[in-house]
Amino acid sequence: MKKLISSLIVLFLLISCKNEISKNDDSIQREPNSFAIIIHGGAGGVTRENHSKEQQKAYSEKLQEALNAGYLVLEKGGISLDAVQAAIMIMEDSPLFNAGKGAVYNSEGNQEMDASIMDGSNLNCGAVAGVNHIKNPILAARIVMDSTSHVLLSGKGAEILMKKNGLVMVDSSYFFTEKRFNQLRKMQGKEQTLLDHTSYIENENLIDDHKFGTVGAVAIDKKGNIAAGTSTGGMTNKKYGRIGDSPIIGSGTYANNLTCGISATGTGEYFMKTVAAHEVSNLIQYKKMSPKEALHEVLFNQIGALGGEGGMILLDKHGNVYWDFNSKGMFRGYKKSNGENLVEMFEINSEN
Ligand code: ASP
Repeated sequence: MKKLISSLIVLFLLISCKNEISKNDDSIQREPNSFAIIIHGGAGGVTRENHSKEQQKAYSEKLQEALNAGYLVLEKGGISLDAVQAAIMIMEDSPLFNAGKGAVYNSEGNQEMDASIMDGSNLNCGAVAGVNHIKNPILAARIVMDSTSHVLLSGKGAEILMKKNGLVMVDSSYFFTEKRFNQLRKMQGKEQTLLDHTSYIENENLIDDHKFGTVGAVAIDKKGNIAAGTSTGGMTNKKYGRIGDSPIIGSGTYANNLTCGISATGTGEYFMKTVAAHEVSNLIQYKKMSPKEALHEVLFNQIGALGGEGGMILLDKHGNVYWDFNSKGMFRGYKKSNGENLVEMFEINSEN
């Protein structure tokens, strides 16, 4: 009977809350020892028509695997930083996403990856940019945070440090996927960057199929500490040396126990111009906006108004999870210690 009642409560929550997935109420304190994780695998033109049943299944299964990996860390009493890292590593190792294996190519035909991680309990953070021999860039971001006095290391210097720290280093061919390479081929010679998975029709007009395969995770552990992380290959045909929002603390990633943790995906330059993740946190902290309002304000009234596209996931200090995007869809999911577990990809209003 007890089980039935709690299942009904969970069902009610899932049906009644769309982008406000959990109830946001400051008077509701976090359940002691509760924990949660939320992830994304990129936003954009993620529609039912664009994805075969097999593709939907492959993405759902990989997202669930990433959630489970992070959840397991939290369930065992591990810290949120380790949960974020575990979830992101699963997605970095999968060619489905634009991070680690399967990262997109720059205009020179190389893959340059960026990643960042942040600890909301003390604002410690670390990031790497422009690396292409580190199998899991999120681990490199963690090492920058834990073992240097810096926040962001790039290129060769970052790779030398990671080698010294015993990270798995790979030949850049490890990251190759035919699909991403073909995307570059189509773009080479054009003064235009291509967002991950964007497709062209014959007359070379963009079809509305934008997707950003960046990956990210935010977790809160049993102690109530929040962590956030993001990992990406950036944008196809980006200039050699271009760095996006994902490794920029405050733009693509932010965590603060006073408010929330956030990971973003989308046209990075706009998330940098608006310092998007930090802006959302500030709106919650100082303007007393709800997370739902703050996400909407930044994604639609700031980023959208400038012409940017993408989405963000957010986990607040009470363990409530939220997401929003101004694109058609976003690969996303969450899992909470109260039994809630959801993986979705399409428009907020077309779910279920
Ligand atoms: N935000 C990433 C970048 O601009 C791209 C993405 O989200 O896919 O590098």
